[in-house]
Amino acid sequence: MPKTNPWHSLKENRYHDNTRCGPGSEIPAHNRVPGTGNKPHCTDCTKLNSEGK
Ligand SMILES: [Zn+2]
Repeated sequence: MPKTNPWHSLKENRYHDNTRCGPGSEIPAHNRVPGTGNKPHCTDCTKLNSEGK
């Protein structure tokens, strides 16, 4: 399942929860934080999730 526990970047104001998300997967490990950070959902992840990917 590509959809997984949420993570976000210290440098971004949105969170990801789909491992197929390009911008989300490119976050360097030192900027990656588990959880949503109370930020809005990534639109790319929303699209991927709605397509069942
Ligand atoms: Zn994303």
